[in-house]
Amino acid sequence: MARLWSVASTKSAKAAINPIREATETHYPEAIKQSKKDIYSLGIGDPSVFGNLPPHPATVAAVQKVLVGGVSYSYGTSYGYQIAREAIAKQFSTPDCPLTHDDVIMGTGCAGALELCFSVLCEAGSNMIVPSPGYSLYNCLAGALQVHLKYYNLLAERNWEADLEQLESLVDSNTKALLLNNPSNPCGSVYTQEHLRGFVDIARRHKLPIIADETYAHVVYKGQVFHPISSVAEDVPVLTCSGLSKRYLVPGWRVGWVIAHDTQGALEAEVKPGLRRLATRNIGPCALIQAAIPDIFKNVPNSFFAETIATFEGNAVACYERLSKVDGLTPVMPAGAMYMMVTIDLERFTEFQDDISFLKQLIIEQGVVCLPGTAFMRAGAMRIALIMPKDGLIIACDRITQFCQEHIAKN
Ligand SMILES: *Cc1c(COP(=O)(O)O)cnc(C)c1O
Repeated sequence: MARLWSVASTKSAKAAINPIREATETHYPEAIKQSKKDIYSLGIGDPSVFGNLPPHPATVAAVQKVLVGGVSYSYGTSYGYQIAREAIAKQFSTPDCPLTHDDVIMGTGCAGALELCFSVLCEAGSNMIVPSPGYSLYNCLAGALQVHLKYYNLLAERNWEADLEQLESLVDSNTKALLLNNPSNPCGSVYTQEHLRGFVDIARRHKLPIIADETYAHVVYKGQVFHPISSVAEDVPVLTCSGLSKRYLVPGWRVGWVIAHDTQGALEAEVKPGLRRLATRNIGPCALIQAAIPDIFKNVPNSFFAETIATFEGNAVACYERLSKVDGLTPVMPAGAMYMMVTIDLERFTEFQDDISFLKQLIIEQGVVCLPGTAFMRAGAMRIALIMPKDGLIIACDRITQFCQEHIAKN
């Protein structure tokens, strides 16, 4: 039928592109339909989908108590229920960096928290410095705000540490913030205090606030230590974003927060009031979950986190053992979070133009779904989520191995 009307959308809507969606919605559905085998998805970064990683019963009980008690049916303050903000301030306070509820602004997941930070710091036409490889949401948020992203390189051969010299070369008079993501999605890297100080020194030299995406805070493997960048930031203002999704394994609950670490009061006059004003746009995240936060923090035992992390680490080891033996692939063993990045040596897989065509054929022949590095602004790689039950993950790795053996150029 001929269309009589076509209503135009804004530039902002056209530019709100999430590169993961591009890959999975544009390129993958046809390949999945054509697949010769049953599907094993190592693409999804949602720990709740396979049923092997349920939230702790205390997390569920905390929400149940609020729901049955009927105490949180009202709007509350847009930037968050005070009891939630108090619990978060208490949880993340350190002797060097004491926090109050005033330093916390609630958002709709860590994604909503990041959106608040991008919106409060970056005008249309300005730029922000972000990692490559990096989380694809940054592109979507920046696109919608017409903010230009400049990418600093994370180096596979240095366990994905940033090339700080190249990073500093990106800064110009229009740069409004420096973003880092530690532990990293998609790399699974965890930074040392010394490396974090490198970021802080650059931010200080150029008077840039830091946006710290620490949604995987404390999700680190044996022998590793997580250091929040606020612990080494001293006078440099940091907006730390996090949420319940990944650590408590409830991504659908959509509650996150921004913590303003601001020892010098640099965020006091404009940024903190700005975040609160921006929070009124959607009247804040789900009250039910916010009101459950004090009990969630109090009642979920440390053993729960230890078990979750052991699952990710066990999967990482199993994957790494297998994929590091595959000709043409170079995995980097992660130190935290729930992902592994694997470089694909495309010069040796001459049939394929890029990571997407390689991964589409992998789906067709072996039924294994991985996300392309392209979706994380790093061509020639794939991201493996370390979430599915281990026996399935091993089958998937064996299928990847077979695929590579069958397609590597013989010479
Ligand atoms: C999952 C994820 C987010 C978004 O988390 P939500 O709290 O579910 O919005 C943000 N940053 C990174 C690096 C993530 O992996």
